[in-house]
Amino acid sequence: MKPLIIANWKMNPTSQDEAERMIIETERLESEGCEVVLCPPFVFLNKTTILKNVKVGAQNCSFDDAGPFTGEISPKMLKEMGVDYVILGHSERRSSFNEDDDIIHRKVKQALRNGLSVILCVGETEKEREEGKTDNVLQRQLAKFNSNLIVAYEPVWAIGSGRSCDPKTAEKARLLIEKIAKPKRVIYGGSVNSSNAGDYISSFSGLLVGGSSLDIIEFGKILKVVQGV
Ligand code: PEP
Repeated sequence: MKPLIIANWKMNPTSQDEAERMIIETERLESEGCEVVLCPPFVFLNKTTILKNVKVGAQNCSFDDAGPFTGEISPKMLKEMGVDYVILGHSERRSSFNEDDDIIHRKVKQALRNGLSVILCVGETEKEREEGKTDNVLQRQLAKFNSNLIVAYEPVWAIGSGRSCDPKTAEKARLLIEKIAKPKRVIYGGSVNSSNAGDYISSFSGLLVGGSSLDIIEFGKILKVVQGV
């Protein structure tokens, strides 16, 4: 199984031209030894049809296929567009858009029904970690799920903060996630860059990369570390 490397562009870049340039540059990176998935904002998905070496993912989807849900994008629409993956339960959606475990569960079910591969993000906040609640949080976030998911362990305090998680601590979380949910894979996310990617890829079967995936040269360096080239 090749390492799975997800590029989460979040709400970036801000123009079609810039997105097109970045998509082309990502396609050109050396990536034979891994599976790369690019998750741009919805409005740039139309630009991803040129991709051959890189698969396409969405950053979110609705819990239903169609209907009166203003502003939503459905998993059925994504699948029909050629999207293969979807990120669900990202901590930014949990905290800024009030997505709770029930909503996330409904989204995951609908995405799977439509044949999308789901990357479910889980992880504790800094406060939860300090209070020794990491295991409980992971138990709660994974309670309703079974084995057909990719789970991304993303300690919330490590996302976009430049404070990556100690690899031994991350490994403990991975073991617990495997025990609870028996996922297809567990990948790590949280301030991954080319200097620390090697620390995680030895115990996780992939990486979820946010900020560093916007710098295509840096992202290429991460891919090199992962592929050992
Ligand atoms: C993410 O977007 O899930 C993420 C881990 O971001 P960053 O790499 O910027 O911490």
